[in-house]
Amino acid sequence: MRDKRVYDSILDVIGNTPLVRLHRITAGMPFPVWAKLEFLNPMGSSKDRIAKYLVEQAERTGRLHPGDCILENSSGNTAMGLALMAIQKGYRLKAVVRDRTSKEKLDQLSALGVDVVKVDTSLPPEHPDSYNNITPRLAREIPDCYFPDQHNNRENNQSHYLGTGPELWDQLDGQIDVFVAGMGTGGTVGGVGRFLKERNPDVKIVAVDVVGSVFTRFFRTGEPGQAAPYLLEGLGDEFLIGTADFSVIDDMVQVTDRDAFLAARELARTEGLLVGGSSGAVIHALRTIAPSIPEGARVAVLFPDSASRYLSTIFNDDWMREKGML
Ligand code: PMP
Repeated sequence: MRDKRVYDSILDVIGNTPLVRLHRITAGMPFPVWAKLEFLNPMGSSKDRIAKYLVEQAERTGRLHPGDCILENSSGNTAMGLALMAIQKGYRLKAVVRDRTSKEKLDQLSALGVDVVKVDTSLPPEHPDSYNNITPRLAREIPDCYFPDQHNNRENNQSHYLGTGPELWDQLDGQIDVFVAGMGTGGTVGGVGRFLKERNPDVKIVAVDVVGSVFTRFFRTGEPGQAAPYLLEGLGDEFLIGTADFSVIDDMVQVTDRDAFLAARELARTEGLLVGGSSGAVIHALRTIAPSIPEGARVAVLFPDSASRYLSTIFNDDWMREKGML
């Protein structure tokens, strides 16, 4: 029978995203590539999955009670997912975002009535108001407040282990050889990677990082080194974080802001896929590693969010020129 896709709640629409074969941007690659379209989640990103799982786990384990405040630091997408959970379930949400967060994301959070705290990313990491210090401090100061801590809480990875991973395996009938995805908190790569490796240890897991982030150097040398500023939203970090599970990663590719942005623009024009800069980063990384992928291997990539969040930045020629990217 036809699935009529009628649901009792918008929360039931989270996950089960389509997997779509790419044909044009992958021209010349001697293997098929499928993209998991996470921007088709209700709030427009893969982060809806973790928002739902983190909130429902906290409820199940008595860490979150009716009327409580939820507090989280986010590149904007997790905040949007948590906003949906908060509205549907009767919580308040305070979101801590970096000052490079796009205007579109801030406008959407404002439309959802979220209390947003913007952090100055030029502050040194050790500063009490830095991105990674301010939220734990606020969590201690604000009464009846739940801080899911997506950067250190492995329930983030677990949501992908239980959802995204099995969906992908099922969609490709277990015929998957390479999985390529961006690494921000590392929840996606960690959770999907662990699931796929348990099913088939030969699946190659490739994490995509951004130039300026500490992940790649740590992966290669065991030393995080010094972070440098970058513009890409959603990938990388200035610190090593608890959700970054390097044990399931076979290879890591570091992409520049410019390469990520140009590939995102190309995805729009060649595939009609309006996706964000981290999806562009994944495509650029795939091109980099394509020569090492065997002919006929089956490759899956993940596109976390939509271009609609970056129309004033990545998809705006003036902004791109101002940043020296065009
Ligand atoms: N892309 C975007 C746009 C994101 O917001 C995020 C989440 N920070 C990611 C990629 C990376 O996902 P994860 O946190 O699961 O590593």
